[in-house]
Amino acid sequence: MTAPTMKTYHNSLKTALDDDFLRQTLDKFAVQYRANRQLIFADVNEKELIAEIADAKDASLDQLDQLYERFKIEAEKKGVVVHRAATAKDACDLVCQLAKENNVQTVIKSKSMTAEEIHLNHSLEEAGLKVTETDLGEWIIQLRHEGPSHMVMPAIHLSRHQVADVFAETTQRDQDSDISKLVKVARQELRAKFAGADMGVSGANFAVAQNGSIAICTNEGNGRLTTTLPRVHVAICGIDKLVPTIHDALRVIKVLPRNATAQAITTYVSWITGAVERQEDGQSAQKRFHVIFLDNGRSQLIQDAKCRQALRCVRCGACANVCPVYRLVGGHRMGYVYIGAIGLILTYFFHGHERAKLLAHNCVGCEACKDVCAAGIDLPAIIQEIRARLTEEFGSSMDVALLGKVLANRGLFHTLLKFAKWAQAPVKKGRYIRHLPEIFSLGQGFRALPAIANESFRDIWPALKPPFVPGAKKIGLFAGCAQDFIFPGHLRAAVTILAKLGVNVEFPLTQSCCGLPVQMMGQRAAAIATAKGNVLAFKSLDVDYVVTLCASCASHIKHRYADLLAGENMSADVKAFGDKIIDFSSLLTDVLKVKPETFVNNHEKVGYHYPCHLVRGMGVVEAPKTLLKAAGDYQPAAEEDVCCGFGGTYSIKFPEVSGTLLANKLNNLQATGATTVVTDCPGCFMQLDGGEAIRGGKLKVEHMAEFLARHLAK
Ligand code: SF4
Ligand code: SF4
Repeated sequence: MTAPTMKTYHNSLKTALDDDFLRQTLDKFAVQYRANRQLIFADVNEKELIAEIADAKDASLDQLDQLYERFKIEAEKKGVVVHRAATAKDACDLVCQLAKENNVQTVIKSKSMTAEEIHLNHSLEEAGLKVTETDLGEWIIQLRHEGPSHMVMPAIHLSRHQVADVFAETTQRDQDSDISKLVKVARQELRAKFAGADMGVSGANFAVAQNGSIAICTNEGNGRLTTTLPRVHVAICGIDKLVPTIHDALRVIKVLPRNATAQAITTYVSWITGAVERQEDGQSAQKRFHVIFLDNGRSQLIQDAKCRQALRCVRCGACANVCPVYRLVGGHRMGYVYIGAIGLILTYFFHGHERAKLLAHNCVGCEACKDVCAAGIDLPAIIQEIRARLTEEFGSSMDVALLGKVLANRGLFHTLLKFAKWAQAPVKKGRYIRHLPEIFSLGQGFRALPAIANESFRDIWPALKPPFVPGAKKIGLFAGCAQDFIFPGHLRAAVTILAKLGVNVEFPLTQSCCGLPVQMMGQRAAAIATAKGNVLAFKSLDVDYVVTLCASCASHIKHRYADLLAGENMSADVKAFGDKIIDFSSLLTDVLKVKPETFVNNHEKVGYHYPCHLVRGMGVVEAPKTLLKAAGDYQPAAEEDVCCGFGGTYSIKFPEVSGTLLANKLNNLQATGATTVVTDCPGCFMQLDGGEAIRGGKLKVEHMAEFLARHLAK
């Protein structure tokens, strides 16, 4: 299959968004999964276990060659033949060769993502072999000639009616779409295949160097039948599946099923050690058992300091389960063979840069995947790194490259913004840019776009600066470009509150955009230039904290500047800046210890939208709720912490997905009965406010600072 073009990719996204069944199924699954996952992790220390898995996987990656040698010695002592395949083609050729040597005609397979990775079925069929998938989901998609749309639930995109249709075609009989009856059909059809198969091909969740065993976690009995009944068993897995001891495997098993399907353990965990005795034609014989370790770029990836974490992946699929983009468009549009966050990454490393070119951009950067990853992988950071590499390799569009150059030059950027303020006059209508015909709005018709403010915050700052209070805390204010030039009212409200609380505020005029938008576009040089400028802008101020009203700026500065500026010889300054960064809500509750009486509570019903970069990026959960309860009647909304679809330039690149995420968010907020919605990020504000304006809804959208300033006691 060739890589999609931008046009075909957008068309396929639209098709997915129009697929009501897909939307309902993935929605239902996502909601249930989140609730069940929380329950199933209640009896274990999730974060501690995940950190242990990450450390252990990293240690294994450092010694894969030794682990391979040890596994080979131990397994071969028990009659297993162990191979190493450098490429996907080598692995496929090897399995075909083994089939030929063993006079194999028919092959049954249990679920294996590694076999999918190398398109093994295709090679086996080309070699004239009859191949049957025996995992129910895999069998269904094999019959439909599709790839998996999820790593654990490969046929999640299909309805029972679609399955009944394909079973009817296969069996040449009408089929009832009752699920239990469909399972019975599969069982009947597959039993004969198990009984007659010459070779079973499986994957392996673990290969244990200590004793040469492999382990397979499954929920269907097909894994055991595939590995035991045929006279030849070939297990194929990535070299990264090697672990030193059974203890290492057991540790992962504590998290893998919990994370995958919210089960404490899978129905079967099968440990296979050595080639066992079996009966063949009434004679005693030994099973032919081969284990193939696939490299396919893994050795190279281990050397890649920024991305090697991806090899910790245990294929639980949780990064797709919580991904708001996956939830809308499904795995066929969010990956190639591997799907979800890890799919965007592994497509680049295993299936080619060209194929990853568009996929790598289809991530809104919400960090939900990082939050649940069984192996503690910083998936969004790797996705950003891949975008930067793709931009360096393939170049970027003229507009993106130009934006990168402009943002890298603070003086030019600010001058252009001032110019744009005048240039927008013909299309400005109140606070917004007038609604443009679709052909000009580039798909942005789902929200009103804000106009640039008449006066930027930096223009009004000299008049706003609170008088100096000797001995009081000194707070630096980092504005970010959106609030400086588009929403200065957010900052003005914050300064009003801080002045009332008696603190000193500093606003260095040499600060600029935090650099996240250009980083998201893969413009590495511009991201470095803006980051450097901001560190220097605050360097000599000697402030206690640097507060920002933008959750995305806060998280980007705190977590990405160190890596971005690693080559700039300013690590102490970068660390000092990052350590001082704090979000507005936490500054008020945790540092300035505001009391409820700071506000007048007239019981205004208020809902809240958690910015992704506040709740996950900064780990802030309680502070906003505490403030809303002090100043209003807080109404929790469903899925408060799910992304609103903004994602900076994401909403421009993928308006169809962004607009759908926004509609879901506004529906959930509206259902609370709140009259006001508060958030802590100008990007989310722009999305919610602009969306509500287009819907003609009654929800008033405010930044936390505005809401609190409106309720500030005299
Ligand atoms: S950051 Fe969010 S949108 Fe991107 S892959 Fe992870 S979960 Fe999906
Ligand atoms: S990247 Fe993490 S969450 Fe995603 S499949 Fe791998 S281990 Fe699971």
